[in-house]
Amino acid sequence: MSPRTPDAAPDPAPTFADDLPDVLARASAADVAHVNAIGVDASSSRACVELAAKHELVHAVVGIQPNDVAEAAAGDWDEIVKLAKSPGVVALGETGLDRYWDHSPFALQQDYFDRHLRLSQTTGLPFVVHMRECEADVLAMLREARERGPLRGVMHSYTGTADGAAEAIELGLYVSFAGMVSYKKSDELREVAATVPLHRLLVETDAPYLSPEPVRKIRRNEPAHVAHTARCLADHRSEAYEDFARQTTQNAIALRAAAEAERREQSSELAADRANAEGGFAPTAASRARADVDERRARIHRLARSRKPARIRNRPGSHTRIRVAVSRIRRSRQATPRRSAPQRSNERRHGSRPRGEMGSSVSLPPKGPAILRWRCCHDELAARPNGTGSLVTRSARLARAMSRIVTTCAVSQRRAAVAGLLAP
Ligand SMILES: [Zn+2]
Repeated sequence: MSPRTPDAAPDPAPTFADDLPDVLARASAADVAHVNAIGVDASSSRACVELAAKHELVHAVVGIQPNDVAEAAAGDWDEIVKLAKSPGVVALGETGLDRYWDHSPFALQQDYFDRHLRLSQTTGLPFVVHMRECEADVLAMLREARERGPLRGVMHSYTGTADGAAEAIELGLYVSFAGMVSYKKSDELREVAATVPLHRLLVETDAPYLSPEPVRKIRRNEPAHVAHTARCLADHRSEAYEDFARQTTQNAIALRAAAEAERREQSSELAADRANAEGGFAPTAASRARADVDERRARIHRLARSRKPARIRNRPGSHTRIRVAVSRIRRSRQATPRRSAPQRSNERRHGSRPRGEMGSSVSLPPKGPAILRWRCCHDELAARPNGTGSLVTRSARLARAMSRIVTTCAVSQRRAAVAGLLAP
């Protein structure tokens, strides 16, 4: 998204509640074959699923937008996971990262982006990436996710660099352009769009904002307008509009079809599990792995949300008992989260800028023992009275998630005493 994109602006978004049938009729008349309604939190995701059930043209995309993750209640993510299985759901999102707005701690955004990526990898549903002023951060997380398995996703309303687009494509993603690409001043963005191979390109409205030229003055953007964006891009790339439209539609269908095929495969695998369980056989390795990840995530979630002292403790002897695949711990380059102007001026005035905050991440060599230790005055994470906690784990995922949670607590609690993660 460009710095001008107001998709998290405070003024109320225009809605389609009053004239949706007309909107969809105009979309059909403009040969728009698919309309994706995308969620930004649990309740809007639920509404998207309901819309998809009611209107044939509409598909649902469910997720929690990076700017909304701070507002997410306990249980919201579980609801997204549940909603992802609903009929009519074709993707997960919006997810991603945003350094432009200061609505959510960055580490929390990373945590949720990671959840969406993993959910995509277990469900086969593509993810929709919102990226604003943080191309390097987004690409780093995509690279990390790619190491776990293939990626299926879309860089939505893309405003990044040509190199970033090329890397996203290399990682398996599609790149989607919205109305901004048609604006007079967007020469650079059009040049970026010209570098994207047609079989990896998508067009979108990113409604309800930023109508494309020549309907830019219509404040509420709507699906029918995507044809203008397509025409602009086809012209700029010297492609016939019909070919461009056909190929981008095919791209969207290919993304969806792959997800549906994967889902069918998974449901037959789960059926096999159930049959096996009834017959007294063990579940398949894939479903065991999934259950394992779910369980760990639930544990981390409980820890992060719970008001009680942490359950993860430094138990004597546990270091040697457990063989671990985690080790090197380093501070990330991102030293402090972005702050709002009032926060900054407050800090200047009172000299109270919290010290010791940092983003943390864990990078994992293939072998070697690891113990995660942290110092944190946040009582949920400090297992001992002096504010230190530690965790011995063989799970790379748990270690990484834990590092994010420690950082998130540090950042969101604005406590000065947090030292982040310490190496073993
Ligand atoms: Zn977005």
